Amino acid sequence: MKTTDRRSFLQAGLTSLAGVVSLPLLGGLVGCVQTPAREGAGAAASTATPKPSLTTAKLTERVTLISGVPGNVIALSAGDGVVLVDSGSAALAGSVKKSLAGAKVTTLFNTHYHADQTGGNALFSAAGAQIEAHKITRQWLETDYYVPADNRWVKAQPKSAWPTKTFRDKGEMKAGAESIEFGYLLEAHTRGDIYVFFRDSNVLAVGDVASPLRDPVLDWYSGGWLGGRVDAMDDLLALAKDDTKIVPCYGPVMTRAQLQAERDLMLKLYNTTTDLTDKGRSAQDMLEAGVLKDVGREFQDPYRFLYDICKGHWAHYTNFGGNIV
Ligand SMILES: [Zn+2]
Repeated sequence: MKTTDRRSFLQAGLTSLAGVVSLPLLGGLVGCVQTPAREGAGAAASTATPKPSLTTAKLTERVTLISGVPGNVIALSAGDGVVLVDSGSAALAGSVKKSLAGAKVTTLFNTHYHADQTGGNALFSAAGAQIEAHKITRQWLETDYYVPADNRWVKAQPKSAWPTKTFRDKGEMKAGAESIEFGYLLEAHTRGDIYVFFRDSNVLAVGDVASPLRDPVLDWYSGGWLGGRVDAMDDLLALAKDDTKIVPCYGPVMTRAQLQAERDLMLKLYNTTTDLTDKGRSAQDMLEAGVLKDVGREFQDPYRFLYDICKGHWAHYTNFGGNIV
């Protein structure tokens, strides 16, 4: 692409040039599906797969939402390049890049290590992007890891896909006129989740820490659990203003009020399920007790969600249950 084209792209923002492109969904939800569905429940879970098409929508003058890759990617048009939050799956990252109409990605944030967020790391890194992520996200990408639900190992990513800059707590940077703040969300979905806040555009990327459409996923094997999720949502609520556009990895843009409602439900579920866990109840017991019924939300696979909740509770039992003996 010629420089003049790139400049006009940056001036126009992403949406006007990118348009709407339909693409087949080649990748599955590789990262987030790590827990077993029971017999009969798998079909229900599979209906949660998002539509196989890339669409773009302009959220603000500088910020564009790219959806369907298979989740959401956020692109900030700033200064002499683009800042991305997540990169899509490996199969769809090329179409994300294409939708940017040749504009150079200077910084790519990974909200966490899952493959549907980090699949484009090598592609954008090769094109000169700096990749910024939590230190633990880099550790998951640079080492082989076991997926208990599938009884399989996932190989480490090649070095070209590793984050080039990492942090532990929080940080900030400037991109053109935009002030960007980012920070850790402890144990909310994995153990390396972060938010990215485009302060001037008032857009807050929350990764898989909010999930307005799909069942919330707690990747307990990598450290996610319901207690961490509630705390992280409180952190996000403290950052967001009433009119902040809150963008999850999957699903529509949320308002602060919607995030508050999801947090309130997670806290309610935390209270009931920790109490039942303390009494020795299993996920099946909780399902039969109707823990997820009449809570103002339908779940696609209630058993799987409860299974994840219980696994996370046992991994963090000393956080709420005191000594086991
Ligand atoms: Zn995820």
